[in-house]
Amino acid sequence: MGHISLNQVTKSFGDVNVIPPLDLEINDGEFVVFVGPSGCGKSTLLRLIAGLEDVTSGHIEIDGKDATEVPPAKRGLAMVFQSYALYPHMSVRKNIAFPLRMAKVDQAEQDRKIEAAAKALNLTDYLDRRPGQLSGGQRQRVAIGRAIVREPAAFLFDEPLSNLDAALRVNMRLEISELHQTLDTTMIYVTHDQVEAMTMADKIVVLRAGNIEQVGSPLELYRAPRNKFVAGFIGSPK
Ligand code: ADP
Ligand code: MG
Repeated sequence: MGHISLNQVTKSFGDVNVIPPLDLEINDGEFVVFVGPSGCGKSTLLRLIAGLEDVTSGHIEIDGKDATEVPPAKRGLAMVFQSYALYPHMSVRKNIAFPLRMAKVDQAEQDRKIEAAAKALNLTDYLDRRPGQLSGGQRQRVAIGRAIVREPAAFLFDEPLSNLDAALRVNMRLEISELHQTLDTTMIYVTHDQVEAMTMADKIVVLRAGNIEQVGSPLELYRAPRNKFVAGFIGSPK
């Protein structure tokens, strides 16, 4: 599970069109990176998939079902925010458990899911701390933990590392890649950072002004960029 299909999706804010008709297939288990300069529509596209924005026209299918009218909480996707959005007064355990408590999952199952998420994220020793007692990287992991316990069909990340310093970014990049391997779940990752795109992606979607300039593996884009814009972005010599 985790196949997402965009069919002639458009988005306008008032009279301003930011996403022209766009088609995109994201396969189950794929790590897909949306990359492009600031303002090109990466966040908007992610928010359309999450259901946090309504499409102006077109359709979004998740695992073969039309999700266009489905509210965000029912799409089975988990958005990981860069600002963490953790509850400062709650322990790590309670932060991670939050979506399970909201869904009235029974305590034994909550505990099982929290332990599993904590283990996957190396947070087992930190479950009784509060967010203020954690490093930036650990807080980011708690935010991911809160997404994991919902067992989403896909994780959506919007520039999750932009609050972190350079060394920690490299670390977290590796951790997220490892997590993708462990969970084997679709991940869509938005960044304006070419290095993140090239090192993390199975498939890169290069965006410019809401248009898809090219879709391909890092190697395909490097070897055969379709135009100067893609070449410039990917850093190959064309
Ligand atoms: P990116 O994430 O690639 O930096 P965004 O998706 O945030 O780009 O924005 C794409 C374009 O849509 C920008 O021109 C931005 O100003 C515009 N935009 C985004 N959200 C809104 C909104 N809620 N209302 C009006 N314009 C918006
Ligand atoms: Mg953005």
